[in-house]
Amino acid sequence: MSSTGYVLKLGGTVIVTGGNRGIGKAFSRALARAGSNVAIIYRTSKDAPDVARKIQEEFQNVKVRAYQVDVSDYDRTVETFKRAEQELGEVTGLIANAGVSAIKPALELTTEDFRNIYGVNVLGVFNSAKAVARIWVDRGERSKGSIVITASMSAEIINQASTNKPLPQAFYNSSKAAVRNLVKGLAAEWVTHNIRVNSVSPGYVRTDQTEHLDKNIRDHQAHNVPLRRFAEPEEITGQALLLLSDRASYQTGADYLVDGGQLIW
Ligand code: NAP
Repeated sequence: MSSTGYVLKLGGTVIVTGGNRGIGKAFSRALARAGSNVAIIYRTSKDAPDVARKIQEEFQNVKVRAYQVDVSDYDRTVETFKRAEQELGEVTGLIANAGVSAIKPALELTTEDFRNIYGVNVLGVFNSAKAVARIWVDRGERSKGSIVITASMSAEIINQASTNKPLPQAFYNSSKAAVRNLVKGLAAEWVTHNIRVNSVSPGYVRTDQTEHLDKNIRDHQAHNVPLRRFAEPEEITGQALLLLSDRASYQTGADYLVDGGQLIW
């Protein structure tokens, strides 16, 4: 983020699910740079505490810590968020960013695939949002917070592997469409608690999720984006931080599309 001109300053503690790698790691760094303590939530990556330590070393005026929890487990998510608040200070925001995908033809997708993908991308997002909303609502009159959900441009389109050939990920794309509507439902219900809920929908971003795709597919996708390339994770952070901040005080139930122009076509 630019150090001159319009600079966003944030305080408090922000929880970032999947904050240890990819887009989530870029969110964690951007938040620490903006002045927030960061609770990085991860599921299995053993190096997550090291990632937190390195961000902490870079931004010594804030606290950054990693917490292991599977966000598809509501009770453990609540416990973990409460512990993060006790250790880092008052939680003011959440980026529900953890997500998984499976690239498989629809005829081969199984109930287990559905449970895995929807368990993280929809139930995990809901659990994270409900856990943080619970903390805020229990504050009573002081209730206030901002939630940002990482959705995807794939909520609206079917990605192509090559011209007129779909990248088969029916559960992933539909899970992202589900959370785009979840944003509106939660925003409508929680407006009375002074809680705003919005989403950011990235296009193709260079992360582990896309790096393992066949190079021909990546090249085809990049070539068809009006900006002619995948995004770097850092290029998704500005919209999320803006939504977390009071600069977005009149924005709820909305989505920022950050797709290099892909949905123009
Ligand atoms: P990524 O590099 O594959 O990282 C996924 C993250 O989610 C990891 O930190 C992982 O933790 C965490 N996670 C997965 N399941 C979890 C669970 N059950 N509980 C807690 N944490 C869990 O992903 P990414 O590419 O940065 O994507 C981040 C978000 O952006 C996802 O929601 C994705 O769908 C969305 N998105 C990505 C792109 C793209 O092109 N990359 C485009 C649009 C939208 P561990 O490291 O411990 O496994």
